[in-house]
Amino acid sequence: MPIEEIHQMALKAVPSLGIATVYRTLKSLLEEGIIKTVELPGQPVHYEEAHKGHHHHFFCNSCHGVFELEKCPGDIHQLAPKRFQVTDHEIILYGACADCAKS
Ligand SMILES: [Zn+2]
Ligand SMILES: [Zn+2]
Repeated sequence: MPIEEIHQMALKAVPSLGIATVYRTLKSLLEEGIIKTVELPGQPVHYEEAHKGHHHHFFCNSCHGVFELEKCPGDIHQLAPKRFQVTDHEIILYGACADCAKS
């Protein structure tokens, strides 16, 4: 979720919490490897728990929601040319989520 949303959630527990404190907390959680960032083109950085392991994301063009996908096609490293070493990949699907596709 984006930092604004995290801040809104945290405010319910600690009404005086400033966004600077949220930034600092996220930074140290990142350094400790507890959370990681998800970068989507044109979107604020999303934060999610790091322990979830390898997965991908679906971005809804209508509500700008970010959804986690459980599956990975797995063998896409073979798309790279011969002798190229692939160390990681990112897959983002774009479209409309179930709620937005209905309306
Ligand atoms: Zn949507
Ligand atoms: Zn994957």
